[in-house]
Amino acid sequence: MAEIKVEGLRHVYSAGTPFEKVALDGIDLEIPQGQLIGIIGHTGSGKSTFIQHLNALLPPTEGKIYVGGKNINADKYARKAVKGEVGLVFQYPEYQLFEETVYKDIAFGPRNLKLAEDEIDTRVREAAGFVSVDEALFERSPLELSGGQKRRVAIAGVIAMRPGVLILDEPTAGLDPVGCRQILSNILSYREKTGATVIVISHNMDDVARLAERILVFNHGRIVMDGAPDEVFSDPARLIGIGLSVPHATEIAMELRSRGVALPDAIYTHNQLKAAILAAKGAGAC
Ligand code: ADP
Repeated sequence: MAEIKVEGLRHVYSAGTPFEKVALDGIDLEIPQGQLIGIIGHTGSGKSTFIQHLNALLPPTEGKIYVGGKNINADKYARKAVKGEVGLVFQYPEYQLFEETVYKDIAFGPRNLKLAEDEIDTRVREAAGFVSVDEALFERSPLELSGGQKRRVAIAGVIAMRPGVLILDEPTAGLDPVGCRQILSNILSYREKTGATVIVISHNMDDVARLAERILVFNHGRIVMDGAPDEVFSDPARLIGIGLSVPHATEIAMELRSRGVALPDAIYTHNQLKAAILAAKGAGAC
């Protein structure tokens, strides 16, 4: 089990220099095993700094982080162990593909763990399956693949470590709508089949609305909202006030309300919007 507990986390870049920057302050949080979390917040609000703390890539300036009950910064062994438990997929991870074949790229992490060759093979095939990378591509160079395929190969490389916590920073950035949907459905199926905790940073409110069961809103290094999509999107004015957009369906619902249509508060998917409009229309009919 890999529940996460964050206590009093603060991170200051370039402390004691003229460039000092408080990137995170007063973060207290518990994430039970298996939650699907969306993180939103404008650029510079601390999202990337936060996720880099969850696998000990960055040390807290103050505060503690526990994964599965263990302080991940207790010593160098704990910092190494958490890297196997918490897998981090950076923005545009395909830029980090460097092996000559797709297979070798996905196998890179398990090989570093010094696993037996047949175990490495099992993991590569399993990870490729999770992200719909056809085994026929295994001997191809990653450079020959499409943008979406490259992205999925890079994600497979992290999944092949079998992380109990999978964190992705803007996994759909720069992909076409088909590529976006594919990646989101791969992420959902990874979580469903393995019970892993999944944390996704996204600028795309429609992705977050569709995907997450809990949303963390970052602003100036703090978590200013933490709740189910129902709660977070029932206060669109607050999100807009901190410079964020809202899902498309929420935007249309706000416009309709301003024109006097009575709709419920939390509308963030097109299906909810359709149902609410039909109900409002029904209420007006004789
Ligand atoms: P986000 O992911 O929400 O865009 P970041 O975590 O990247 O936010 O950044 C939070 C703040 O920390 C920003 O003000 C950013 O400029 C600053 N920052 C990020 N990385 C560094 C760094 N390596 N050195 C100094 N400041 C940084």
